[in-house]
Formats: sequence, C-alpha cells, structure tokens
Amino acid sequence: MTATRSGEQETAVDSKLVLVVNSGSSSIKYQLVAPVSGKVAAAGLVQRIGEDNGSIEHTDGDRTMTEEIRVADHTAGLRLAFEKFAETGRDLTVAGVTAVGHRVVHGGEIFYRPTLIDDRVLRTISELSTLAPLHNPANVRGIEAVRTLLPEVAQVAVFDTAFFHGLPEAARTYAIDRQVARAHGIRRYGFHGTSHEYVSGQAAQFLGRPADSLNQIVFHLGNGASVSALRGGRPVDTSMGLTPLEGLVMGTRSGDLDPGIILHLMRAAQLDISGVDRLLNRGSGLRGLAGVNDFRELRRLIDAGDADARTAYDVYVHRIRHYLGAYLIELGGVDAITFTAGVGENNPDIRADALAGLQGFGIAVDPGRNTAADRTARRISPADAPVAVLVIPTNEELAIARAALAVTEAEPGSQ
Ligand code: AMP
Repeated sequence: MTATRSGEQETAVDSKLVLVVNSGSSSIKYQLVAPVSGKVAAAGLVQRIGEDNGSIEHTDGDRTMTEEIRVADHTAGLRLAFEKFAETGRDLTVAGVTAVGHRVVHGGEIFYRPTLIDDRVLRTISELSTLAPLHNPANVRGIEAVRTLLPEVAQVAVFDTAFFHGLPEAARTYAIDRQVARAHGIRRYGFHGTSHEYVSGQAAQFLGRPADSLNQIVFHLGNGASVSALRGGRPVDTSMGLTPLEGLVMGTRSGDLDPGIILHLMRAAQLDISGVDRLLNRGSGLRGLAGVNDFRELRRLIDAGDADARTAYDVYVHRIRHYLGAYLIELGGVDAITFTAGVGENNPDIRADALAGLQGFGIAVDPGRNTAADRTARRISPADAPVAVLVIPTNEELAIARAALAVTEAEPGSQ
C-alpha cells in the first residue's frame, strides 16, 4: 500500500479527490486518489467483515494504522475507514471528495461505460447478480454503505466488463443453442477490462505511438488472470467469458476446462452446484495443482524439488502460450506484448518462459532487462526486436478515479 504524504504535495491540480471503493463479499479496499496527478492520498483495507476477527489497515503518507476489530457489515467497515481518515485530518464527510468510484464486476449487456449511480442503476446492478453471484451483491453493499455515509456525493460505477462490450460477434458468442443463450444472457463478457484498457493505453504512450495504430496482446497475471487481444486500441478477444472462470490458469480458478468435466463430477462424484463452484473457483488453478495459490510460495516449492509445483508452473505457462498463439493469429501480427499485475509485473521467469523460442515471430526477451530491479513501465525486449515486450504496472484505482471524475464533470448537477 502506498500513499503520498498527507497534504504536502497535494497541489492545485490535486484539489479534486476521488474515493475509489472495491467492495468484496467480506472486504473493502479503498483509495483516496488525486485523479489528475495520479497521487494516492490515502489507502486502506477492511477485512473479514461479518466475522469475529475483523481488521483495518489504513495508510496516509508514512503513517499506517492497523486495528483488530469486529466489523458488523459494509457500512460499519466504511464508517471505520472514515474514522481513520478523520484521525489523519481528512474528514471525508465535511469536504474533499468530488466523487466516489466503485469497481463493479458485472455490467451485463446493459452497462458499457462508467455510469452515475441512481436508484435505477443500483437496482439493475443488483439484478445482474445472477451473472456474478459472488461479486455484484458485494458491490451493491459497498455502494449502499457510501450512500449512507456520503449522501451528497456523486457515485459512479466502473464496470469490469465494460471495455469488452464491443467484442466482435464471433469472439463473444458461445456455440450453444441461441435461444437458451439469449434467455440467460450467455455470451463472453470479459473481465479486468479497466486494467486491460489502462495498460494498453499506457503501452501506446510508452511507445510514443497512437493506440489506434497498434496491435497489442496484454497479459493481466494476478491472482485472477486474463489476456486480451487489441486491434487499434479496441479489444477483439479476451480469455475470460460469461464469468471470470474461463481462460488462463489462476491462483485458485481452473480457467479453461472441458465442460463435460462438470457433468462427470456431478454424476460420478455427486458434487452439487456449490460443490462444483467451490472446486472450480477456490480449489483449482495453482492451489488445486500444487496446494498454494501465491506465486512466491510456488517458486519456493519448485526450488525445493516439489514435482506438483513444477507441473503447476508448466501448466500455467502452457496455457499462456496457447492463448498467445491464438491471439497472434487472430491479430495477424502484433506490435506489443505487455505483462501486468502481481505475477506479470514481478515474475521474470514467467515472462521469459511464456515467450521462449519465439524469435521466428520477432518476439524475444532480453535477460538483463527482464530481471532488472525496476518497478516502472519498461521494455524487456532487445532494442532491435520487431515486437516490443513491455512490463507496465496496472493501476485500476487511478483508472476508476479518472472515469468517475469524467462522469461527474460531464453530468451537470451531479457534483
Ligand atoms: P494481484 O492479484 O495482482 O495482487 O497478484 C497476486 C499474485 O502476484 C500472487 O500470486 C503473488 O504471489 C504475485 N506477486 C506479487 N508480488 C510479487 C513479487 N514481488 N514477486 C513475485 N510474485 C509476486
């Protein structure tokens, strides 16, 4: 968690602050962001909401406060965060917040741009819970909590699916009965859209070329993982589908499967819906294969000679290369391949292994650049390689803050 020193460098361009809220089922992650400069004024995390061993960690400048405390619900969690803000001289209820930006996971077919939240929008986000039963209800609780505490401040929903709304029909359509698909909203929606949009924009900026002149492949490799193919700045394919379960191997999610496996498990292992849900969303991926979902632990196991950890790593890389090959062909050539998020930004082995042996396609990784202790946007391909391979830190909070500010400025009377 990082935050600039309170007050000190917050200049005139920082006079507008946006509170960014990422509300999960038992946690609230938040940042107070200056959208113009990109500075983080303060940030925090409330965890284990509704359980006996709740906690908050709040950072403002070089001051970090932690507290173990029972947090009854999301409103109590947010109230606790506001108390921490007040303790460091930022009373959010009195002044200082221009807008609140919420990360909302599923916008369905309805929401495809950042949207000012009113009663109708909130109801619709709630109705979309059938498509994201783990996520949208938690997002709704976060929005309701902010409404209680900051009733006068404009709230904006920024949807994880929005960037992929315009996917070409061939890429977004599952080959199942059309009527069934229509009746149940079954199509490929894609997720991590805020990150893919932000990072592909940063990649174009880094290369000093207009986004609409580039073919790009972006790997967002965090605990959740997805890849997108972009032509001229617009996505033409992405690996996540109806839900964030499809695609790459993830920390605890399986990614792609033969759908027949689910039928087999229900018949042969008598798993019910919640059993399958738990297995594929929480007990699969790296955790299912190797017992750990964190890449640093996986690395330690591999170094200690653990064969399952080695296999997990190989399956992870194999799936990445599978998508890379598919997207290279879909695009008919690529200008930039970018890695982002926890694993993508920090794990040079994955980057090197994902792109090994592809010199014939103009794709190469320079070992020195790849392993340099640099945390900023950078090129890791050799200077003369035809395809730029980049590492670009994602910043979904900043993207959400900027989107929220833009919406409030565009909608008269919302501020
Ligand atoms: P995210 O969901 O983007 O926070 O990414 C979480 C994943 O990134 C976990 O698997 C972490 O092990 C991995 N990760 C985060 N920081 C590092 C690091 N410094 N070195 C290697 N892996 C990291």
